[in-house]
Amino acid sequence: MVHFPTEISMLSNYSNTNNSFFVKRDDLFAFSFGGNKARKGLHFWKEMINEQADAVVTYGSSSSNHCRVIASIASQERMECYVISPQSASEPTYNSQLVELCGANNIVVPVTEVSHTIDTLLKDLKASGKRPYFIPGGGHGKWGTQAYVDCFNEIVSYEAQHNVQFDYIFHASGTGTTQAGLVVGKLLNHHGVQIVGISIARKNPYGAQVVKDSIHEYLDEYDYDVSDEAIENAIIFDDSYVCAGYGYACPEIVATSVKVYRETALALDTTYTAKAWYGMEEYLKIHSITNKNILFIHTGGTPLFFTELAQLHI
Ligand SMILES: *Cc1c(COP(=O)(O)O)cnc(C)c1O
Repeated sequence: MVHFPTEISMLSNYSNTNNSFFVKRDDLFAFSFGGNKARKGLHFWKEMINEQADAVVTYGSSSSNHCRVIASIASQERMECYVISPQSASEPTYNSQLVELCGANNIVVPVTEVSHTIDTLLKDLKASGKRPYFIPGGGHGKWGTQAYVDCFNEIVSYEAQHNVQFDYIFHASGTGTTQAGLVVGKLLNHHGVQIVGISIARKNPYGAQVVKDSIHEYLDEYDYDVSDEAIENAIIFDDSYVCAGYGYACPEIVATSVKVYRETALALDTTYTAKAWYGMEEYLKIHSITNKNILFIHTGGTPLFFTELAQLHI
């Protein structure tokens, strides 16, 4: 059994611009090294069981934390697992090794053939009498959003219990599902916190649009009435720190990972959380934000930190 809430701890030794820093340790819970893909994955797991699936199909690169989590769920359930990966990002990592360890079938195709490959595979599995369950890349969709509505509610409970109010939340934003869930949580709680998603790959306007679409999809599903204007105002998707795109880290991102580990013992990988941390520091500087309570959500990715550590040579 996994127990939530995840811990929120104050970083008393980390000083920057006179703000108080807190970290929500979504990288630490008792399932597959934690992380946002594990938090999302638990919801998909439940639905797979409800639907009596006997095979699971998903998509992601060799760096994907999501694929590691889904392969682990499938292996625990003794379900067949198929991971479709784009050729362009297939260098082995500890995540891809863990996918392999769980016995998943990894199908590597050119990125342009991914969606066709998934369709054909799902059709073939059904034709052979299987009940495949499909999970979009990154755990995108209603359950992914739900996972971070839950997370936001944990934050609200923490504030009440510890008599603290967060002014800003920062986190790494990829498919936008984590951000969509947090923003939905903020809107439904009428909370004043500013949520800043630091993009790890996508540029605007597309990046922010996908977050918005996910929010609408969730609110429509449950018949919540929130104005377009309120939704629009609640989305800050900052695309200034993507470097050359997904998986590419500029030198300052690598330096951030090293610095933050030395100063706080937090393990930040350069694909996701170190980009978000660097983006957070820059955002605070650029907007002259001081004397605020800042919450960083550590969205996990610990195996990637170790893959990179092996390549750092320091
Ligand atoms: C996938 C991932 C993200 C981005 O989450 P989205 O919901 O796709 O925006 C952030 N951090 C880590 C460690 C991830 O694996």
